[in-house]
Amino acid sequence: MKIATVLRNDDYTREVEQALKEKVGAASNTCSFVEGPNDEPDMVISIGGDGTLLEAVHQYGFKPAYVGIHTGHLGFYADWRPEELDRFVHILLEEQQPYIAEYPTVACKITTRNGETHDKWALNELVLRNNSLSTLVACVYINGTELETFRGDGLIVSSPSGSTAYNKAVNGAIVHPSIEAIQLSEIASINNQAYRTINSSLVLPKHHEVELIVMNPQIMVGLDREQGVWNDVCSITCRVGSEKIRFARYKKLTFWSRVRNSFITG
Ligand code: NAP
Repeated sequence: MKIATVLRNDDYTREVEQALKEKVGAASNTCSFVEGPNDEPDMVISIGGDGTLLEAVHQYGFKPAYVGIHTGHLGFYADWRPEELDRFVHILLEEQQPYIAEYPTVACKITTRNGETHDKWALNELVLRNNSLSTLVACVYINGTELETFRGDGLIVSSPSGSTAYNKAVNGAIVHPSIEAIQLSEIASINNQAYRTINSSLVLPKHHEVELIVMNPQIMVGLDREQGVWNDVCSITCRVGSEKIRFARYKKLTFWSRVRNSFITG
């Protein structure tokens, strides 16, 4: 098995990686550590936080299975603590077949006014904001039906696993990752006698799409960790992605226990 690692940039995380490599190297000659996507690893181990895992999936894409070791607090994508390295390495090398949990993504098509299209995807979410302090203005179509003209700080289209991230901070619903859906949530919409939005998050099934017709000449588009300024975007269409991110699960940690640990018990 070929394994790659992606690390948060701190000394403790690098120590954990070193320990992992030593333990695997001492116990196996069938597992090897590789350096980058061109080496086509079977497994990518992210060591850090949920943000590190987001970095890993954008670096390595849909092929490998992902495992997370958290060197901060228990997150949503990582299962293992550094104190459990011995147990993790034992289970990994025993070649016990892990349960593969597949998490849906958000697929986006960005179309510019000159007709260019750009296909993008996110594991957590797409965020759309105006690139200045003035409001974002976007007409929202759901499956071809015009819903509203949004005015406000921004819009988020999140995946189920991204529903606990930025989406939750704007009071979006938490969606179990086994549900293939996307969620459209508002960031500080203007609702008064002149402007009106639905002012609730909308959860769309797999066969529906949301189209955002952009009125601002310049916008900020966020895709997980990556942010960019885009000029002359005409529309952004989002739907549930056809490809999923695969997590290798060697122990039972339910999504709802992660929700409790992250937001209730701490
Ligand atoms: P960051 O600003 O350094 O950290 C964002 C926080 O969100 C971190 O604590 C991160 O956990 C956590 N997080 C990431 N994915 C999550 C998920 N699926 N469920 C629950 N928490 C999650 O940014 P970052 O580390 O590069 O992460 C990028 C993410 O930040 C974006 O995808 C967006 O969802 C989120 N974000 C949130 C807000 C907000 O809540 N107001 C604003 C902007 C962006 P770790 O500490 O374990 O890495």
